[in-house]
Amino acid sequence: MLEKTGVPTKEQVMNEFPDISRINEGPVVVIECFKEIPCNPCTIACKFDAIHIGEDINKRPEVTEDNCIGCSVCLSKCPGLAIMLVDGSKSEEYVHMTIPYEFYPLPEEGDIVEGLDREGEFLEKVKVLKVTNPKSYDRTPLVKLEVSRKYMYDFRNIRLEEM
Ligand code: SF4
Ligand code: SF4
Repeated sequence: MLEKTGVPTKEQVMNEFPDISRINEGPVVVIECFKEIPCNPCTIACKFDAIHIGEDINKRPEVTEDNCIGCSVCLSKCPGLAIMLVDGSKSEEYVHMTIPYEFYPLPEEGDIVEGLDREGEFLEKVKVLKVTNPKSYDRTPLVKLEVSRKYMYDFRNIRLEEM
């Protein structure tokens, strides 16, 4: 499926997630970089030694989950928008998920927007918890959302309702 459509299967996605005990401890990165490509801004961006590619720049990044503090810097540095954050420490019902979002207008804190899966299909309405867009992110804003746990492995994007 990934080769034909560019969309990973749920099993491929779940393989990239940390186990649930780590997710429930606090924010941690999930990297969906499935192809071997010459790219490494993620590993350069991380000052906590949590992302490794090694000497061969074509290798896929590997995450040392226990080193990740959830600072989110790497999300804005990935040209493929392949990195997000998941945090299951806040609630039994919801997880907080932070995604890069390069569409305008940006949502605002408190907005209710449409939560979408990897194929752009509607999952549920989700609440915007925070929008971060400092100059250092170089026009790759980050949006933190409250997502139902049951959609944790499906959720990947948002769509603002038409005004
Ligand atoms: S969120 Fe921060 S600590 Fe975690 S991998 Fe990215 S840059 Fe490193
Ligand atoms: S910066 Fe993004 S696209 Fe490049 S290797 Fe890292 S995760 Fe993959």
